[in-house]
Amino acid sequence: MKSMTCIICPVGCQIDVDQDMNVIGNRCPRGKVYAITEMTNPTRTLTSTVRTAFKDLPRLPVKTSAPIPKGLIFEIMKDMDDILVQNHVKIGDVIVKDIHQTGIDLIATRSIPNQYL
Ligand code: SF4
Repeated sequence: MKSMTCIICPVGCQIDVDQDMNVIGNRCPRGKVYAITEMTNPTRTLTSTVRTAFKDLPRLPVKTSAPIPKGLIFEIMKDMDDILVQNHVKIGDVIVKDIHQTGIDLIATRSIPNQYL
């Protein structure tokens, strides 16, 4: 039996899952999906920053466009060390397509307006 807190919504149900993937404690079906995913292939949306070429805005906040396998987070963060944004960027723009061959993009979570160019 493994216990966890569901992080899908603010209710934060305490969920227990056994070896046969029987789930108890969830108040809605999303909690069951979350619990089974946590047991079989835990994922997280990665949020971080990457370097830019602009001294007044040296770091650009970014996130993955979807949750990635938890086991890849450190490798992807190493990949992000090599990124240098040198152009105008709008919020939601893709900074790296298919990062670390996950099929998931790294996207900007703020803009770099023209004043920084
Ligand atoms: S199980 Fe459902 S109600 Fe409970 S925290 Fe998860 S999403 Fe929210």
